Parts: sequence; structure tokens; C-alpha cells
Amino acid sequence: MGIVDSHCHFHLLANHEAPDAAVAAAREGGVSYFLNVAVDVESRDELLAFSDRHPSVFTCLGVHPSGTGTDPSEDELVRLAADERFVAVGETGLDYITDSGDLTWQRERFRRHIRAARRLDKPIIVHSRGAPEDTVRILQEEGAETVGGVIHCFVEDLATAEACLAMGFYLSLSGILTFRKAASLRETAAAVPLDRLLIETDAPYLAPVPHRGHENHPAWVTHVAECLAEVKGIDYQEVTDATSRNFFNLFTGATP
Ligand SMILES: [Zn+2]
Ligand SMILES: [Zn+2]
Repeated sequence: MGIVDSHCHFHLLANHEAPDAAVAAAREGGVSYFLNVAVDVESRDELLAFSDRHPSVFTCLGVHPSGTGTDPSEDELVRLAADERFVAVGETGLDYITDSGDLTWQRERFRRHIRAARRLDKPIIVHSRGAPEDTVRILQEEGAETVGGVIHCFVEDLATAEACLAMGFYLSLSGILTFRKAASLRETAAAVPLDRLLIETDAPYLAPVPHRGHENHPAWVTHVAECLAEVKGIDYQEVTDATSRNFFNLFTGATP
């Protein structure tokens, strides 16, 4: 089936001419599928055109919790994300590190995305930084378990992981797993069942060891897979098979 980068941003790569080349390079490196994640609704047409051009690149639609562009209403989100080529709603969520002060607006934006996802019956891609309690509480209050989804770039503790798993969510591990200081995340990852894990780059952010300090590329999701194999004490192939299977189980709108 091939390796899947479950979360990346081809259109945020520094070289704006490069997304097509980045797909080709990653596929040569053994990465077969990608989820090109929206951070705003302004790029809607660009994301769809890119996926039309690259059948291996799936896409989704939403407004990043810290996004400063258009902030669509729930009805507007439903209308914009209804296209069947959008396999999920997101990324959405809470980011209490990037933004501060009264973040009621962020929580309202997150709730609108969950409600839209439920109306569309599509899974949710959740970004959560510095806000584990509120993320879990809002997902629970809004009944997010009826559609499920993934907590992308998961970095929280085992209790938070278990609360998300209990709602049927998957957890996606990024290059942070490979960082020297991430010992507690590796412990958490070891405890989460393999059939609930995804892997991602979040490119152009969060380049894994040994590429730290550079712009990240989807090709480097292989380093996350290698690290996860070590953490779990299993074969690399077992990790890539399971995480790819999990991806297609979650995003039923994506077909390999
Ligand atoms: Zn994110
Ligand atoms: Zn992202």
C-alpha cells in the first residue's frame, strides 16, 4: 500500500513553485500518499486543483485555530467543505501557545468546525497546542465521536491520549517523536495501540532528526516511521503497513 504522510502542507513550502516537485521527490523516496491539509478557506481552489493533478494527494478544508483570514460560519463551512474531494474537516482546534488573552473566539471557531463536520459526516483533523483539557472537553461536548478524526502532531500525556482514543480518535505522531527531549512522548507512543496511530511530517514544519533546523519535507515521514518502529520494538514494515491501513480506515473518502 505504501507509506502515508497523514498531515503536510505542500503549499506552505518556501519555494512556491515546488509542490509538484515535492510530491515527485517524496514518491521516489517511498512515500505513496499524502494529506495536504488546509489552514484557510482562501486556498480551497488551489488545494482541489492540486489533488486533481496528483491522485496520491488527498485534501481537506478548514481554518487553522490561529488563522487570521476569513472565519466562515458553520453554514458556510458546510457549503465550502461539502465537495467529496475533501476527505475531512480541518485543520481546526485550539492553540493556546500561538494566541493568548481571551480565546473564546478560538473555542467558538473549533465548535463551528465540529458541527460542520458532523453535518457533513466527515472526520475532523484537530490541532491542539497547550490546550489538552479544553480540546478534549469541547470534542466531548460537541459529540465529535460520531465522526471521529485525528489529533495531529500529538504531544500530550497518556491520560489525554486515552481520552481521545475513548472517543474513537486516532493520534498522529510527527517528527517531534524523534527529538532527543521527547522521551515522555516516546513512552506514551509505546503505550498507544498501533492500530490507532498515524504518522505525519506537518511539513514544512517540525523536521525530524537528522534534519532538524531545515525546512521539513513529506519525504521525511520515513524518519518518524523508523523512530516509531524502535519505540514499539517492531519492524519498520509493520509500522508503515499499520499506519497506512489506519489512514484509509479513518479517511473513508480517500481511496488508495
Ligand atoms: Zn497543526
Ligand atoms: Zn498542519
